Amino acid sequence: MSNWSIEEAERVYGVSQWGGGYFQIGENGNVHITPVPEDPSIRIDFNSVIEDIRKEGVQFPVVVRFHDILRSQVAGLNKAFRKSITEAEYQGEYQGVYPVKVNQMREVVEEIVDAGKPYNYGLEAGSKAELLTVLAMNTNEESLTILNGYKDDEVMRLALLGRKLGRKVVVVVEKFTELLLLVKVAKELDIDPIIGVRSKMTVKGRGKWESSGGERAKFGLTITEIINAARYLEEQGMAHCLKLLHFHIGSQLTDIRAVKEAVTEGARIYADLHKMGFALDYVDVGGGLGIDYDGSNSTNESSRNYSMQEYVADVVYGMKEMCDLEGVPHPHLVSESGRAITAHHSCVITEIVGEIKSNAADMDTSAKEGEHFFLKNIRELAETFDEQENMHEVYNDASQYKEQALDAFKLRVIPLEELAKIETLYWQIMGRLQTWYRKEEYVPEELQELDYSLSSQYLCNFSVFQSAADTWAIDQLLPVVPLTRMNEEPTVNCSLVDITCDSDGKIDQFTIGREITDVLPMHPLKRDEPYYVGLFLTGAYQDVMGDMHNLFGRLNEVHIYSYDDDPEDFYIEEVVKGSSVEDVLNVMQYNPRAMASDVKRLIDRHVWDGKLNPREGVRWTDFYEKCLSGYTYLKQ
Ligand SMILES: *Cc1c(COP(=O)(O)O)cnc(C)c1O
Repeated sequence: MSNWSIEEAERVYGVSQWGGGYFQIGENGNVHITPVPEDPSIRIDFNSVIEDIRKEGVQFPVVVRFHDILRSQVAGLNKAFRKSITEAEYQGEYQGVYPVKVNQMREVVEEIVDAGKPYNYGLEAGSKAELLTVLAMNTNEESLTILNGYKDDEVMRLALLGRKLGRKVVVVVEKFTELLLLVKVAKELDIDPIIGVRSKMTVKGRGKWESSGGERAKFGLTITEIINAARYLEEQGMAHCLKLLHFHIGSQLTDIRAVKEAVTEGARIYADLHKMGFALDYVDVGGGLGIDYDGSNSTNESSRNYSMQEYVADVVYGMKEMCDLEGVPHPHLVSESGRAITAHHSCVITEIVGEIKSNAADMDTSAKEGEHFFLKNIRELAETFDEQENMHEVYNDASQYKEQALDAFKLRVIPLEELAKIETLYWQIMGRLQTWYRKEEYVPEELQELDYSLSSQYLCNFSVFQSAADTWAIDQLLPVVPLTRMNEEPTVNCSLVDITCDSDGKIDQFTIGREITDVLPMHPLKRDEPYYVGLFLTGAYQDVMGDMHNLFGRLNEVHIYSYDDDPEDFYIEEVVKGSSVEDVLNVMQYNPRAMASDVKRLIDRHVWDGKLNPREGVRWTDFYEKCLSGYTYLKQ
């Protein structure tokens, strides 16, 4: 064995780079989880988690949720704000909210609300359904409920219901006409609303979501509209209701400079409104706090060049500086970080169910009489490989023989078997060329493709469209790593493909060190031992945005809590069953029961006709029904 080490594995998979303090490679080569970073004595081995999942009889793929990580992130963000506020002697408080659109799962929202209680951490809703949810979930009267997104009459009434129930519901006006509607409904119901205005910022975030800011942004009021809104409220005797200034310049801000610029711009608007006589209580800096998905700590699209504490410090100090210069009080600070709260807490565990390799098949290529000279030529090239001097020429010759052979086959000059032998020899030569070029400094361009064309595809029992929508939709990078065997050298370069019949259902972008690559080294599959890989940082957006492409439904979930007194440091608190085939068929308007009886009738007819014996008929009927009520993924 080579001098492979855990350090080498760390270099390839970067677990502690993207792991946010929660994931490491253990000495035994398994991924370890430390869900409470302040308490490193709680250390969970992923292999034990897999064993428990199997013991529970839960089928893979599985979403694993670490509730302690959610709690740690909520506490971490609030503590970061408290730290900077104390250090800066900032006069306002932090009153954060969690935007539920990032992960609306009830268990996730409940955990966040519970962990946020000591900090009066609230919730944000962006639609009617989300508002109905947060009105029921956010019962802490001290915390904020922020309402963004486009609104109708019903939404306004629901917000005012919240006010009636004693909640701090802030209606953030996204366009001017919403203000007119809100004032009308508020007067009709005689309830004082808490009003926020969203500013269309001139500064744009950089990265994939940069169109959330700038003058063409979909949401928000221009400066002129903000002033008109304030004046309108004054006219209506409701100036005291205007309490919050909001902005959001995009998600996953990769460059800290965008944050600084936005805070400066927002603080300036707040300060001038104050001087015009509109004393707002809150400035809401929106979301955007990024996650280092590729572990590069850079302005790569899937990374960010700052830490949570740096982000928070820039918000606090930026606001303080401007307010002090302008001589206005420090407002309370609100942020709507979603991605940063939830991304780490969940991951998808799937089994590799096969290997696809274009050059895997071999056949006897020994010479036979009367064979075509193309085959003779390429065999000779293979046999004299070690004596060759110009390897680039070897590549060109081999490629040419193969192409000519294919033409000759189509023209009925060579038979199928000879073509197969030529193909076998061709791939043998390519494999040797790959080894030869590995130690060369200069590799000609067409040969750089060799690594990719000789790489394997590992077939994963999951659907990219259900479990990692953003890797398909916007080329989001998510860390993928084997969960065990990292103390062994991974010798198979591969990309991952899913089990949908869509060729877009694949993951072929990874980072190794700081480099983006199209293959990732994995371990060779063993016949009698399952090989599990984890797709990490799926807790934000990925968990809830997936679709049912190919009728693959939601995944089985296990919810994990740490427990120091347990020998494995954890227990499975809940198993949430994923979609059955029946479930997804119902969504698509089928009637699975009727389908089952249709199929039964067909089977019965074959029994009557004597084409099927009755016992066999019953077995097939039961089998069809069992599959209908089963999981949509492959059974291992
Ligand atoms: C999506 C969204 C958020 C959450 O952003 P993250 O980058 O996930 O923190 C916050 N506020 C608004 C208005 C949003 O649209």
